[in-house]
Order: sequence, then structure tokens, then C-alpha cells
Amino acid sequence: MSHFSRLTTEKIRQLTPYQPGKPIKELQRELGIKSVIKLASNENPLGTSAYVSEAISRTISEVNLYPDGSCFELKETLAKSLSINANQLTIGNGSDEIFRLILQAFAQNTNDTPTEVICSEYAFAAFPIAALAYGCQIKRVDCPNFVLDIAAIPALVTPQTRVVYIDNPCNPLGSAISHHQLVSLLQKLPSSVLVLLDEAYYDYVAWSDYPRSIPLLAQFPNLIITRTFSKAYGLAGLRIGYSISHPDIAEILNRIRLPFNNNSVAQAAAKAALEDTQHLEKSIALVHQEKPILEQFYHSINFKPLPSYGNFITVDLGQSGIDIYQKLLLCGIIVRPVDNYNLKNCLRITIGLPEENLRLMTELTKISKDLSK
Ligand SMILES: *Cc1c(COP(=O)(O)O)cnc(C)c1O
Repeated sequence: MSHFSRLTTEKIRQLTPYQPGKPIKELQRELGIKSVIKLASNENPLGTSAYVSEAISRTISEVNLYPDGSCFELKETLAKSLSINANQLTIGNGSDEIFRLILQAFAQNTNDTPTEVICSEYAFAAFPIAALAYGCQIKRVDCPNFVLDIAAIPALVTPQTRVVYIDNPCNPLGSAISHHQLVSLLQKLPSSVLVLLDEAYYDYVAWSDYPRSIPLLAQFPNLIITRTFSKAYGLAGLRIGYSISHPDIAEILNRIRLPFNNNSVAQAAAKAALEDTQHLEKSIALVHQEKPILEQFYHSINFKPLPSYGNFITVDLGQSGIDIYQKLLLCGIIVRPVDNYNLKNCLRITIGLPEENLRLMTELTKISKDLSK
């Protein structure tokens, strides 16, 4: 162990870094080919709208100035569109950053008895990584049939429990818990335990039992909802997301954030993206149009798609996911291995443009034919 490794904490020594989707340019360099598509990070394949691009261009001329650290205009626009008060909002450099603010403020391990957080065995990796960075002990909840066993959570709570994290829908599984299940959990938890409800895929969910989470804030002040501009709003590269919480929680997070955690271009783009409801609707409609086509295709080649409420489908291939991931790379298609989630026979594949999905289906058909020879 190096000198520096000894200087850090035991939990940080245990950490393995977050594995992002392979960048398009990296595969282009490796294969020397131009035509690469990425279906690996659940980004919006339609890109940004002309309206958002224009807001971005306008703001470029002001980048010599510090951004508005309070994100006033974006918060006003968000508050109006969500029918909440602006003082319930915290804007983060991606919703990822907000996980860290919450853990730093409320779950940091400061003495010999470690603080605890609870999350699914398949929870989005950014959360457990952040929890380890702040010295928390992580308790994992099972997912029988790939759905979170939310009823098992209350029994895991101890006086040391600070945060319960639920990504809903879950990435990588795509499954979600219902309004009734969420309420039942909130009723059973002590108000000292924060429930971090990650709704990164909120806009894609078409399910009448999906939690109506914002109205629950009035009854459960320990609930914190996070959402992001990275997915349906198409701004992953600008890094901007937010939480909706009790104003007192937002006030505490505001004390510890970096003074300028959200740059001016991201703020302007997010505000414009909220205003451009047409582009949002188009982005959502694309996913709903393509999802059944892809699901039917996967079944037809004997792959098992897990039911998904998001803009991605995790597919059980019945064989090594990495092998097929590598075969697809050679065809210029980047998808996402999920072996780090202990889903070695699966791949997580973002729903792309119709022509991208066609290309994927064509290559997978060839690959599956070769495999069955
Ligand atoms: C993509 C994703 C996010 C978004 O993270 P940002 O930091 O806002 O880009 C958050 N949670 C889950 C479950 C995700 O899949």
C-alpha cells in the first residue's frame, strides 16, 4: 500500500471509480472508424433543440462573468413549472452532486460508530460511491425478480441510519416502485431518516401508480426528490440537476455547496429546456414509440428484456454481456456492460433514434445467428 493510500480512509481504499459509458471519440480513435453510435448512457438522442442552442449561444458571450451562484432565474422557472416554492430547490452540478451534498451535510461519519445508508443491491453506482467517500456503511436491499423489496427497508433501519436512497425507476433495472409502496415506506420510517428519491427518469414514466412525489413533501419533510436535465432534457454534458425538499434542508445544502457550482451556460440552457416543452414531448414520444419495437426484437432473438420505465432497456442475454458488448463495439455500437452491478449476463442499452435502433437490431441479429451456430 502506498503512503498516500494509507493517508486516506478505509472506505476510500475500498472504492472503485464510477465506470462511465465509453465516449464516441475514444472508440473512433481505437477502431479508426467514423460511424459510431452510443447507446450507453441514456442520453437524449435528439440532442438539444434550436431554442436551447440559442440560449446557450447568448450566454457564451457572458462567460467572463461569474455565474449567478443562487441560480435565481432557473429556480423561478422551475418553481413555477413544478408548483413549488423556489426555496425548496437546490441546483447541483448534475443530480449526482446533490447526493454528495446530502451525504456531506447529514450522513458524514464523524465518530467511531459509522453512519449507515440503505440502498438497493442494484442502486445507481454514483450513490454508493458517494456514501463510501463520506465514510458511510452501506446496507443493501434485495431485488427479487429485479424489483426493489421496499417492504424490507424499515427492518434495516438503526439509530445510525441517515439516508435511504431509492432510484425510481432504478438504473440499471428499469423497474419502479408505486405511490402506495413509497407512502407505506415513508409512514414506517422515523423522520430522522432522509429518503432520497432519485427521479432521473421521471419524464419517461407512463404509469398511473408512479409516485406523485411532490405533494408528499408536505406530509413527509424527510423526503428529498432529485431530478436531472441530463436525460429527457438532453443536457448531460452541461451537468445540471436539482432537488426538491423541505426549505430547511435546501438551506443547509446551500451552506456547503461550492459558491458557483452551476455554470452560467448550464443555468441558461436548463431554463430554456424547461420552456421548450415541445422538444421534451418529442423526446418522450420517441422513447414510447421505439421501446415496444426493441422489446419485441429482443424476445425474437431469445434475449430477455427487463420491463423498463426509463429510456433504456436492460437485456438478459443468457450469456456473457461483456462478450456481446465487445462484438458490438467492433460494429461501432457502444452499449453498457453492467457486470459491475453483478448482472454479468446483461447489457443496458439506451433507446436511440429509429435508425440507431435499426442498426443495433441488424448487428444483434447477425451476432445471435453466429452464436447459435
Ligand atoms: C443518469 C442518472 C442520474 C443523472 O445524474 P446527473 O448527475 O444528473 O447527470 C441520476 N440518477 C440515475 C439513477 C441516473 O441513471
